[in-house]
Amino acid sequence: MKKRLSIKARVTLWYTGLLILLLCLGVAYLLTFTDRISNQQLRDALQDVVSDAVQSAQFDYGELDDEDVDFYRDGVSVFFYDESGYLIAPRVNQGIQVNALLEDQVLKTARGGGEDWLIYDLYAREDGVGFWVRGMTSLSGTQGTLRELFLLALIGVPGFVLVAALGGWQITRRAFLPVGRMAETANAITSGKDLSLRVPDDGSRDELSRLGGTVNAMLERLQEAFEREKQFTSDVSHELRTPTAVIRSQCEYALSPQAGEPERREALEAVLRQSQRISTIISQLLLLARAENGKFTPNWERVNFSELCEMVALELEGRARERQVEFTLELQPEVWLVGDETLLMRLVNNLLTNAIRYNKEGGSVTLRLSTLPGGCLLEVADTGIGIRPEDQKKVWRRFYRVDAARSQGGCGLGLSMVQWIAQLHGGRVELESAYGVGSVFRVQLPEDPKK
Ligand code: ADP
Repeated sequence: MKKRLSIKARVTLWYTGLLILLLCLGVAYLLTFTDRISNQQLRDALQDVVSDAVQSAQFDYGELDDEDVDFYRDGVSVFFYDESGYLIAPRVNQGIQVNALLEDQVLKTARGGGEDWLIYDLYAREDGVGFWVRGMTSLSGTQGTLRELFLLALIGVPGFVLVAALGGWQITRRAFLPVGRMAETANAITSGKDLSLRVPDDGSRDELSRLGGTVNAMLERLQEAFEREKQFTSDVSHELRTPTAVIRSQCEYALSPQAGEPERREALEAVLRQSQRISTIISQLLLLARAENGKFTPNWERVNFSELCEMVALELEGRARERQVEFTLELQPEVWLVGDETLLMRLVNNLLTNAIRYNKEGGSVTLRLSTLPGGCLLEVADTGIGIRPEDQKKVWRRFYRVDAARSQGGCGLGLSMVQWIAQLHGGRVELESAYGVGSVFRVQLPEDPKK
């Protein structure tokens, strides 16, 4: 398998390589440029001084009058020779000995006195006398500067590159730390199956830290979904266990020799009741599951909601009377909306059933329907047992029952179904309740959920 360098190493290598190349090019350019400029300056100065010396030289009766001559200017030493090459000025020997032929208008370098010299000679005639003027300037100054510059580059470039590489490595290493942590967290989750783990927040607000936040939010949602699923499975099995246990014990009892005909009948009736309960739970669960998977397609139609409410209320009147609960309808007529009739009936039915079921003897239930701008408001108010504030949010959850013993056959799916139906119709639900006094369930529905 091809082993790839880490991103940190690749980024650092790339930038360091590029930096080395750039610095080398820069230094090479600087060295040649400096060399060229200083050589040019030296040459110009040398030629100027030599020409000036030729100009200022005077010959009286064949003798050189060097009064006006600058023998040393701008780093250039000037020498006068006669035609046969003897030094005639300066008379005081400056101690520079260079072995080089006198050549007219030729620039050359030569060594003398342990140094390199740039030399320029000019031949001239004055008053019938021929003479040579030689200018010499030391090259060691520019060579020294170049050497210093070269040494500086030799130490400076690697030092600079080292600092840049270390800095780059450190920055990329830090920047990639959250990625490492994310990988560690993901590994820990996979191996330990602990969905509660999170990527630690380093407090910076850079791109990777934001990515860490997004991963955490995703883990949060996954954990919630996973826990909901776990809770749901355990709730379903719990809900189904009771009726199946009853069915089983009733069957065993009915089959036993001591059970007479009336007991068998009673047992069979109990079996029937429990199997009806199971089938209700299953059908509600199927509907909710289909809703959750997005597989449920409502049958949209224009519904007279006032009539629908009245119909459901009439169906439940008998049950209310049985429980000595007074039923009041305050329905605004001709409230129309677009919705799924069966689901809307289920919504009203669930709310009214609860209002009767969790009522007190001699209590009352009021069903109100009124129009709102763009929709309608349905209110189911009861004077029942009420719901404690801490339970008011929970009652919408699946299988949640405030008090299973007082639930009287309910399986805790009614209100989650109401909420789902309202949301499917683009509406929302609200609960106002006072414990021991009564509750009001409000459902707001738009006239047309698709608008
Ligand atoms: P259930 O089938 O148990 O009635 P629901 O989802 O319809 O399930 O209701 C959940 C719980 O909310 C009920 O068990 C009950 O404790 C509480 N509840 C619902 N409606 C009322 C109400 N009108 N008054 C008091 N408590 C209620």
